[in-house]
Amino acid sequence: MEQDTGQPEDNSSELQEKIYVIADEVLDILKQLSKDNKKKLNAKAIAEQLVVKGTVQKMLIEPLPPIHADHPDIKQETHSEISRLKDMTSNFLDKFSDMAPDMLTEEISDLKKQIHDKNLFENTASRLDSLLKYIKIYFDALYLKNKELEEFMRQTISYLEETEEHVSTELSFHQNKFNQDREFEKSISINMSMIKEDFDSSPGMITDNLKKLKSAVFGKIENINKGIDQKREQDMIHLKEQETTLEQMSSRISGIKKEAKEIKKKAEEIELQSLRDQLTGLYNRKAYDQKVVETLANLRRYDVPASLMFCDIDFFKKINDSFGHKVGDLALKKLASLLKEKLRVNDFISRYGGEEFAIILPHTSLKDAEKAGDGARSYIDNAMFSYKNRNIPLKISVGISVFRKDDTVESVMERADNALYLAKNSGRNTVKTEKDVIKEDDDITQKSLTS
Ligand code: GH3
Ligand code: MG
Ligand code: MG
Repeated sequence: MEQDTGQPEDNSSELQEKIYVIADEVLDILKQLSKDNKKKLNAKAIAEQLVVKGTVQKMLIEPLPPIHADHPDIKQETHSEISRLKDMTSNFLDKFSDMAPDMLTEEISDLKKQIHDKNLFENTASRLDSLLKYIKIYFDALYLKNKELEEFMRQTISYLEETEEHVSTELSFHQNKFNQDREFEKSISINMSMIKEDFDSSPGMITDNLKKLKSAVFGKIENINKGIDQKREQDMIHLKEQETTLEQMSSRISGIKKEAKEIKKKAEEIELQSLRDQLTGLYNRKAYDQKVVETLANLRRYDVPASLMFCDIDFFKKINDSFGHKVGDLALKKLASLLKEKLRVNDFISRYGGEEFAIILPHTSLKDAEKAGDGARSYIDNAMFSYKNRNIPLKISVGISVFRKDDTVESVMERADNALYLAKNSGRNTVKTEKDVIKEDDDITQKSLTS
């Protein structure tokens, strides 16, 4: 049995040796793990490596006597070794304190102070604990840094993706408008690729490159933002140009609309003029032809009755011959106004040709048309037409037919013309209807039969 001499055992050099062994082991493991990015870096991994090596484990099993750093018996050599260990540990802490997250700054600072505490190396266990604690803090810091970097990268990439999407949308929207968009897109794409490359090539571990990486990323984001700002300015300029163009177009369209309205109005006027007789202002032959078709259609479809009154000036040739063609024209004009005065507003009065007038009387039977015709004839006969204080006789003969559903344009006119012919043959200044023509024909037939 070993006797207790009451004196502390002089095992400081042995202990010191063991501490160095532990420190070397741990640092070797750290270096190894730091180089290998694929390996997970945590206290457990360190512990596993220590177990594999077995050296530290063996030392821990052996009981170690307490040691006081300021023990008078500790040799000067031992003091210097302890001092070396302190410096080494201090350097070690300095190295990763730069990279450690803010939340660990205080703790690292405390640990640095403790290194110089004389009681720190009081016993092997506490020294080992301290070392392991540093290592743990170091790897916690690495882990947190990795997490921090991961989050930073995640946010940055998400922001870049948003930016890329925004830029892409902007670009596709204006693709056809700006040639420089393609250059811009290319530059964004290059920036993106460079950022991705930087991230891809960055080590899984935290290194001094982190700051450079951050600064590179922010630099590129700044470039993208500048690009976007320039793009917006260009868009604003383009927008203003578009607004000006639109205003010009709008004004041009208004002008065109106005011109179109005027053209339409003129076309309508021309169309109306084309249906009017130049001399009398009445409808012309063309208008009559259209009206006859319409009248027949109305009769067939809606049973709207109508009559045709065909008027011819009596001995008009004599007026021309006696007073000149000009007076003849005035006579035609006078007759037109007399017809308009006497007949109904909705009666369709046209100059069929020469001194002949075709009048369509809607909603009028043959009998009523006969009355209207005779009223017009007598009105004209009684009207005064004079030239240079000379009274000029103005009389008309009238032939009337009634529209039938089976009529053609020609047939209804033919019956009216026959009636007019009868009127002329009956002494002029008179009205005859298609019935009169039939009666006349019958009379003639009767006469020829009896004779
Ligand atoms: P009737 O009683 O048998 O109808 O005899 P009329 O003289 O009226 O008939 P006729 O057919 O013999 O003569 C018609 C004349 O009308 C001939 C032509 O010079 C004249 N006339 C036709 N159109 C115009 C015109 O626009 N202006 C003038 N001034 N005369 C015209
Ligand atoms: Mg005639
Ligand atoms: Mg005549």
